[in-house]
Amino acid sequence: MTNQESKRIEIIDLYRNQKPIYEDENLTLVRLESLTRNGLNKLNKNDALVIIPIAPIEAHGNFLPIGSDYIESILMVELIKETLKEKRSNNHYTIVESPGIPIGTGALRSVEGTLDIGHRAFRDCVIDFIDGLVKAGFKRFLIITVHHGMIHAYALEEAADKIVKRYRKKDVRVTSPVHWIAKTLYMDDPKKTWSRLVEKIGQKSLSDEELEAIKHDHHASIMETCFMKKVNPDLVDPEYKTSGPIFDGINNQLLGLLTSRYKYDHQGLAYNGNPSLTDNRDWYSLYVEKIKEIGLEFIDALYNKDPNAFKPYLHSHIWQFKFLKTNFKQYFIIPFIIFMIVLPWILFFINLQT
Ligand SMILES: [Zn+2]
Repeated sequence: MTNQESKRIEIIDLYRNQKPIYEDENLTLVRLESLTRNGLNKLNKNDALVIIPIAPIEAHGNFLPIGSDYIESILMVELIKETLKEKRSNNHYTIVESPGIPIGTGALRSVEGTLDIGHRAFRDCVIDFIDGLVKAGFKRFLIITVHHGMIHAYALEEAADKIVKRYRKKDVRVTSPVHWIAKTLYMDDPKKTWSRLVEKIGQKSLSDEELEAIKHDHHASIMETCFMKKVNPDLVDPEYKTSGPIFDGINNQLLGLLTSRYKYDHQGLAYNGNPSLTDNRDWYSLYVEKIKEIGLEFIDALYNKDPNAFKPYLHSHIWQFKFLKTNFKQYFIIPFIIFMIVLPWILFFINLQT
């Protein structure tokens, strides 16, 4: 039997070997789609945390699976459970694991292998999915995504905002930490953040080349390659080892967001960063350290007795950038049309006065 054959399992095996509810240390774990209606009604839904992995299928270089974001999001659910066992062992949590939703927006639309969902359709899907769960009695939701497109992150915050406002009286809370994680790792002060992490884990300092790569680790590069290798190295093509730096600027990303006609594919290679440095050190432990820290902070906010303490976790700093909003084109086009209609009248009256 080859290695490939010994690893093969059928998708249905997930259900053949499953218990809908099981205990694991301080966690009661629930597989949402395997619950009966009776099982659902017996759950303490008021206190349960529903974790929803959501990420699109998207081209990831030539060497990572097109479902990398989706698979990594499911890996993140494992990390969350791990950290609750390690750091909150005195508290009991009921964790409801939703099946992963393989959709997202703001992906590399111009590259085959990418399945991009329209901005508004994506947001509405997420709203309706969570709305159904609120109607079933759940109140705490953590959205996990390892796809950090700006409009994807924004659409998830919009969905969270909509549900939280719709069910304010019930104190329903929804949060999506993806942009906080990206901001901490890549935007605030990458040198400081990473130096601290390296020191904490006891690794050697980052070289200039590594630091530069980390600052630009945006798509299918070090982070994603080390995550996918952790899940299953057989899913990763060794081509990553010879895939050197491609650092694509923000201009291309913005143009790619504005129109699907703009071919935005990271110079034809569909990665943005320097994946060839993946085997330089144990990057996985560094990322996990930070992701667990932020994830825990968000879960604490979801359970904080004071609803006001949750507020800062609803909108990240991108919330102020209205052009990222779902209907951002209308946001500018409608006021522009009104302005153009009104302009001749304004000029006419100005002429009358003079
Ligand atoms: Zn990705």
